[in-house]
Amino acid sequence: MDFQLTPEEETFRAEVRAFLDEMLPPGTHTMDPAFLAEWHRRVREKRWVGFSWPREVGGGGGSIMQQVILKEEMAKRKAPPLGTCFMGLAWVGPAIIQYGTEAQKQRFVPDILDGKVQWCTGYSEPGSGSDLASLQCRGVRDGEHYVVNGQKIWTSIAMWSKWIILLVRTGPPGVEHKHDGITCLLVEMDTPGITVRPIRNMSGGAMFAEVFFDDVRVPVGNRLGEEGQGWKVTVSALAHERSSIAEVEGLLRKLDELVELARRAVKNGRPALEDDGVRRRIARCETRIEAMRMNGLRFLTKQLKGEPLGAETSINKLHRAALEVEMGDLALEIQGSAGHLEKEVEGGRWQRFALNWPEVVIGGGTPNIQRNIIGERVLGLPKD
Ligand SMILES: Cc1cc2nc3c(=O)[nH]c(=O)nc-3n(C[C@H](O)[C@H](O)[C@H](O)COP(=O)(O)OP(=O)(O)OC[C@H]3O[C@@H](n4cnc5c(N)ncnc54)[C@H](O)[C@@H]3O)c2cc1C
Repeated sequence: MDFQLTPEEETFRAEVRAFLDEMLPPGTHTMDPAFLAEWHRRVREKRWVGFSWPREVGGGGGSIMQQVILKEEMAKRKAPPLGTCFMGLAWVGPAIIQYGTEAQKQRFVPDILDGKVQWCTGYSEPGSGSDLASLQCRGVRDGEHYVVNGQKIWTSIAMWSKWIILLVRTGPPGVEHKHDGITCLLVEMDTPGITVRPIRNMSGGAMFAEVFFDDVRVPVGNRLGEEGQGWKVTVSALAHERSSIAEVEGLLRKLDELVELARRAVKNGRPALEDDGVRRRIARCETRIEAMRMNGLRFLTKQLKGEPLGAETSINKLHRAALEVEMGDLALEIQGSAGHLEKEVEGGRWQRFALNWPEVVIGGGTPNIQRNIIGERVLGLPKD
């Protein structure tokens, strides 16, 4: 890999830094709603929301390397996210751009970029998570509609979303190949027959829900891709940056904060940072982050050569899951007995961090599933 940036890429990095200097002077309250509205307006104006999407649909048309630079600089400066519609930007938008009709692109993409509507993802069901293709929620064609019946679960932010990207089974019951007969529908959440029940998680918040569909009528015009091709739509809409280099920046920043916490906290009458065990664990985290960075650079090199990224990205997903758990546990341990008290240190932010591990560990595929993927598709081991 060539680590040197081209002059154009250096110019772009300088542009991003200048923008951040202007928008994020010391003392900026990045959670302030007025600031966030202005932030979104300005990044959108620069076309940095949907930065890698084609310019024809309102995206930035940016290159892979520019995208890495942008995310890296934003992560270093703890900048708010580029856009407010997380799932819309992460996969709904890319799926619509790749598989949508012209009418669907015009209808949905601008609102995602402008952060006007929130999307959620209706894939998992009770009994169909890792084995997603076993899903049972059914869509039966009735003239110009699909009539949907069934249940989804763990649907993040369902209670605040206007739309859901939904996978339903439309093939005849008992089809031989379970990946066939799945169809992707775009469904408005206020359609009659949809019930959303929030689920409280162990950190006390409720950010996901159960969603029930009872004779919900969805126009055929809201189908994304062909009938029966929902699996393809779901798995192949990931043409964006997956090198995880930007994630590494975020993890390094969190490690810095952990070191700061260890400097202030007291263990056996001395700063916790002077404790051998604490130092060893911090070093282990740093080594893991460095391994992630190296893997990220290997993935990036592949992408820059125009080669598709495959199963190898599961390696960093696995590393990241282990790291987040380790860092969360370490933060509580450094705090000693205060670690058990909800809001004792820094308003309880490390407690919340430690309890939110399922988000990175289970969300997007469990460690066991990642190990299967690495074993079978990277190492060529026999199938599970
Ligand atoms: C914070 C969070 C947010 C989420 N948001 C969404 C969302 O917005 N939309 C959505 O659709 N889903 C969402 N999910 C669901 C998530 O995708 C599933 O929980 C995940 O895919 C695991 O599926 P499952 O819960 O059915 O567990 P299971 O698949 O039942 O797995 C249970 C255990 O068995 C293991 N296991 C399963 N199969 C195998 C195998 N073949 N080999 C070895 N071990 C195996 C797993 O690793 C796991 O440890 C979210 C989950 C979390 C935690």
